[in-house]
Amino acid sequence: MKVFKFGGASTKDAEGVKNVASILKQFETEDIFIVISAMGKMTNAFEKLTNCYFNDKNSIRDAFNYIKVFHYSIIELLFPDKTNLVYTHIESLFNSLLTLLKKDSTPNYNFVYDSIVPYGELLASTILSHYLNQTGQPNKFIDARQIIITDATYREARINWDKTPETVSHKWELILKEGFKFAVTQGFIGSSAHGFATTLGREGSDFTAAIIGYSLKAEEVVIWKDVPGVLNADPKEMPDCVKIDSLTYSDAIELAYYGATVIHPKTIKPLQNAGIPLLVKSFISPSDKGTYIGNVENSNQKTPSFIFKKNQILISIMPNDFSFIVEHNISTIFQLLSKYDIKVNLMQNSALSFSICSDNDPQKIPLLLKDLKTSYKIYYNTSLDLVTIRHYNEQAIERICNKKTTLLEQKSRNTVQFVIK
Ligand code: ASP
Ligand code: MG
Repeated sequence: MKVFKFGGASTKDAEGVKNVASILKQFETEDIFIVISAMGKMTNAFEKLTNCYFNDKNSIRDAFNYIKVFHYSIIELLFPDKTNLVYTHIESLFNSLLTLLKKDSTPNYNFVYDSIVPYGELLASTILSHYLNQTGQPNKFIDARQIIITDATYREARINWDKTPETVSHKWELILKEGFKFAVTQGFIGSSAHGFATTLGREGSDFTAAIIGYSLKAEEVVIWKDVPGVLNADPKEMPDCVKIDSLTYSDAIELAYYGATVIHPKTIKPLQNAGIPLLVKSFISPSDKGTYIGNVENSNQKTPSFIFKKNQILISIMPNDFSFIVEHNISTIFQLLSKYDIKVNLMQNSALSFSICSDNDPQKIPLLLKDLKTSYKIYYNTSLDLVTIRHYNEQAIERICNKKTTLLEQKSRNTVQFVIK
């Protein structure tokens, strides 16, 4: 069996959904677990809705209607027959979302986020499942919250690796027994042992595909994207970027770890452990080869790869008492980072200060800074870029640093990183 993941870009409009269905048509004799994320930029819209629920109740209506109109404009094009069951299912999803929004807010932002934002995935997968039915591709709709079991770290839930593979395989057996070749489920979402919805972190649908692939010992996992494969830079940043034909698992892990957005960082490890190849292919030209990630002998990947992380904050932390930073302070700082679930993208220490570069998350960072300020002197710069170059050379460095202010630099044998203004 294979696992296919289609992201938001592939289903951003009715034509996109039709295209996904036509790709699947070419695989109708195979057994495929299909993982869908929210359509277009809908996850951003759901985040906005969540923020309205917390901070701006008067705007809930508008944010909700924006999402509703977006989905209805797609289904009206896909399902001319108004008695199609899809209408009932979509309506009931919107009704239960509305009920949720009318409840009083609990103070736990992450918990509420995880009950609202998954609707993006639920709507998208419901629409695709019904559309496949309509085009003669029978499929079983699966609620991922029943098979992806996590802990209760809302918005960044960790997979329960004991229970999940077992639950996924059991479900898959039932699906095959019922005679289906296709299953359609949601990426990015799961549920905690208490049955509450959780999410795996932004862009987490790739990870879901890997979890399912791992659980079912898939022959391959394919991520269908709007790019020809893994590129050596984001085309928005570097229009002259090139496609990489094959990568080792380790190269792919490094690229994703440093922030290459083409694959979610957690995706590779489970596949590597099970020796399952990951293919990154274009949904625009599905017959092209794409990028193969797996046990490749010697990846010829020595062209420099550039990874850009925008909207970074660089925080310098100094003890008030002029004690050396490494004495006991480091562990306190890491406890705070873990408390607010902040990922460090780069760190560096000197005798008297410790610097960290991380995404400038508007919810988490202010809490961290407030806490740090009680014991430390803090300086910070915002609106920075973190640029990582894998397999760097002089020319590549020149290209990035030319005429820019570099606030921090870190170099190892294969990788160099710059925090730049
Ligand atoms: N829809 C989610 C997001 O946009 C998950 C994903 O796309 O992978 O972050
Ligand atoms: Mg998405």
